[in-house]
Amino acid sequence: MITFNDVTKTYPDGTTALKNINLEVQEGELLTLIGPSGCGKTTTMKMINRLIKPSEGTIKIHNKDIRDYNIHELRWNIGYVLQEIALFPHMTIEENISVVPEMKKWKKKDLSNRIDELMDMVGLDAQKHRKRKPSELSGGQQQRVGVIRALAADPDIILMDEPFSALDPISREQLQKDIRQLQQEIKKTIVFVTHDMDEAMALGDRVCLMKEGVIVQLDTPQNLILHP
Ligand code: ADP
Ligand code: ADP
Repeated sequence: MITFNDVTKTYPDGTTALKNINLEVQEGELLTLIGPSGCGKTTTMKMINRLIKPSEGTIKIHNKDIRDYNIHELRWNIGYVLQEIALFPHMTIEENISVVPEMKKWKKKDLSNRIDELMDMVGLDAQKHRKRKPSELSGGQQQRVGVIRALAADPDIILMDEPFSALDPISREQLQKDIRQLQQEIKKTIVFVTHDMDEAMALGDRVCLMKEGVIVQLDTPQNLILHP
């Protein structure tokens, strides 16, 4: 589904963030990427939707080099949930969720139903919240909106970069449950970055351990427990 072939990234200042990464994310899989700050997790994620170019190597999605995709086609098909809550502050919750579906020219009625369905899925009261601005929601509620905004236009791939970092432990646990349930319901390919080992093991079908720009281990949580 997503394939990295010998991918290396050296930033213009000479920092080598990734060294010869080979990685295959399977269709419908939830892969967690874990490792200390600076090991290359965010660089890996940003390369998947072409925010950053590899210095060497190729990345393919559905067996097609990502350079051969139209950039809009590529990005519309990838939902990206960022660490920092990146909702547009001047827009209402429903306007925030609608950005990509509107670019894809969804019908108003379909979109409205979709928003109800998504908000319901993560336990937000649509009637109460859809006309509000992000600042009128709690941090946890905003992060839920960030997650469902990434899902709104039904992308094949969802990238989540420490989406729960700003949350208290209780909201975090709730959202972890939501993500696991979502994964089971919608069977999307998800790459989930965290630096929390418990989170990586609890969520991942497989866990990819990174250190200083290389993959140290890549296996199921069960096997990682047996062969740490
Ligand atoms: P993370 O929280 O994932 O570790 P960082 O705080 O390291 O991310 O980086 C945040 C942003 O700053 C990233 O988008 C990254 O591209 C950029 N960045 C990180 N390190 C550097 C650097 N040494 N020089 C320039 N930009 C950097
Ligand atoms: P992580 O997400 O695991 O914290 P990053 O991918 O953000 O790691 O960063 C990997 C390495 O690349 C770090 O050493 C970071 O400082 C460096 N880096 C990230 N972005 C930039 C950038 N724009 N310019 C220079 N160095 C960067």
